[in-house]
Amino acid sequence: MTRFTYNVLDTPRGDAWQDLAACRDEDPELFFPKGSEGPWILAIEQAKAVCRPCPVAAECLRFALDTHSDGIFGGLTQPERVSAVRAAHRRRQPRAERTFASVLNASTTSAGGHLLWSGTAQVCFAGRAYTPRQLAFIVDRNRQPVGRVLSTCDFDRCVLPSHLGDDAERARCGTRPGYQKHLRENTEICAPCRQANTDADNRLRRTGTTKATA
Ligand code: SF4
Ligand SMILES: [Zn+2]
Ligand SMILES: [Zn+2]
Repeated sequence: MTRFTYNVLDTPRGDAWQDLAACRDEDPELFFPKGSEGPWILAIEQAKAVCRPCPVAAECLRFALDTHSDGIFGGLTQPERVSAVRAAHRRRQPRAERTFASVLNASTTSAGGHLLWSGTAQVCFAGRAYTPRQLAFIVDRNRQPVGRVLSTCDFDRCVLPSHLGDDAERARCGTRPGYQKHLRENTEICAPCRQANTDADNRLRRTGTTKATA
């Protein structure tokens, strides 16, 4: 039985870690299986069993990675080392932060001047559920909406921020909600609000809805 050394792999003789290798008295062929299936499965397991308690497995693994060696090193086969390295890289990469904007971006597509929502019916952030419209509103206005966020266009799934409004915005002067706000708060009804209310009334008579057509 040939004594297993790393000389074949061009490491300097006498490396301290090699002297501690748990496989130093094993048949090197055990660590270079010629297949990965059938009877080789058992052979590979035998080699790995030698590696498992090896005190220099990490150094050995490093060596195999640096030299792109085949065979079993550090208790891993070559394909296993490749996936271990990939997984380590993946873990190291910082996960892209999940923000309102990133969710909005990932869950919408622009279509015909609208922004159509294709995500889930609700989105959770810090234990709070938001509707897609609330989410889009917050991203655009950088504040929490007051009351309900409603769309001014006819597309159910549209969350285009300029097609959305909350109670506060709807109650701006020059709108019917603005008119209603004057009534609620008993303030003087301004001309734009009076006009908006008349327009809405006329629209209602004409079309059966107060919704302005785009
Ligand atoms: S990890 Fe395995 S192959 Fe590497 S030195 Fe130890 S026993 Fe040998
Ligand atoms: Zn729209
Ligand atoms: Zn007004």
